[in-house]
Amino acid sequence: MFDLNSIVRENVKDLIPYSSARDEFKGAAEVWLDANESPFNDGYNRYPDASQSVLKNKISELKHINANQVFLGNGSDEAIDLIIRAFCEPNQDEIIICPPTYGMYEVSARINAVAVKEIPLKKDFSLNEDEIEEYINDNKKSKLIFVCSPNNPTGNIMSQESIIRISRQFSGLIVVDEAYVDFAEKSNISLLKEIPNLIIIQTFSKAWGMAGLRLGMAFASKDIIGIINKIKPPYNINSITQKIVLERINEKEIIENRIDEIKKEKKSIIQKIRTFPFVRNIFPSSTNFLLIQVSRPKEIYQYLSSKGIIVRDRTKYVNNALRITIGLPKENQQLIEALQSFETTLFTLENQFA
Ligand SMILES: *Cc1c(COP(=O)(O)O)cnc(C)c1O
Repeated sequence: MFDLNSIVRENVKDLIPYSSARDEFKGAAEVWLDANESPFNDGYNRYPDASQSVLKNKISELKHINANQVFLGNGSDEAIDLIIRAFCEPNQDEIIICPPTYGMYEVSARINAVAVKEIPLKKDFSLNEDEIEEYINDNKKSKLIFVCSPNNPTGNIMSQESIIRISRQFSGLIVVDEAYVDFAEKSNISLLKEIPNLIIIQTFSKAWGMAGLRLGMAFASKDIIGIINKIKPPYNINSITQKIVLERINEKEIIENRIDEIKKEKKSIIQKIRTFPFVRNIFPSSTNFLLIQVSRPKEIYQYLSSKGIIVRDRTKYVNNALRITIGLPKENQQLIEALQSFETTLFTLENQFA
């Protein structure tokens, strides 16, 4: 049912990729006069490795996947953009998104003049499989379905069975964004062995603590990765990022400990805020944030920001919802104290008018 060749854009199929100096001469040499670089070496005068091979080999070990199944992007946002550009014909094709979800799928599609079909999550934030299937069965314009799992901003994981079922019905690609996977129980990455039309996206921006370095990953079959690589800007990952991420992976125990700490903090925040009368609901979270429903979300947001604590107002997407990232213990303590004092202020105010 899925045929990769039939969904790649014609101009991408025909494209002859840019050939850099480093593509044209690989190997050892003493004098490099082929790339118009500065000869004065203060550490960064040479272009970065366009094939990112050392880092890719490291990531392939880390993720138990072949290096030719790894794409690296300037953040996963670049991967999202390139996937749309490789497979969606502007002013003709469309992507499917399942809101409430991460905003970049829609923004990237619109930048590329690609339409966006929304098939909202169900009330419990699970995928609406039936509606997706019905829609893709009589619609051939949909080239990509973006599924975010664990989902931002709702925090839940999408069922693997749903992902498998949808992928089997679909002649396009299902893109599963696992930006928060390091906080979750497991990844869908092993599904790549059985599902040819699957792309998994991950990032070093969240659990790995390197948002400022901009490194995102996409994993898929080697043919899909080959297509994305063909259209990427040649030097999309700078040398500092390649170097520092490599070092970080070599000390991944530090990150694992931090993930544990964040999970513990998350539990403790839940215990503390569930007792506040204005907290109506705390959604289960497989991420490093909590989506909570409160009475008076705008007031709470304002109150917290007046105390210098910034959370994310998500009321436009989920009724009365605020999204709170888990911080350091001390920061979380500040949050709890601010919420406590909000409660006191509210109580006093209400008594005044009682
Ligand atoms: C934060 C986030 C990303 C990360 O994007 P980067 O460009 O890698 O920093 C991707 N997807 C989702 C759902 C996110 O929340």
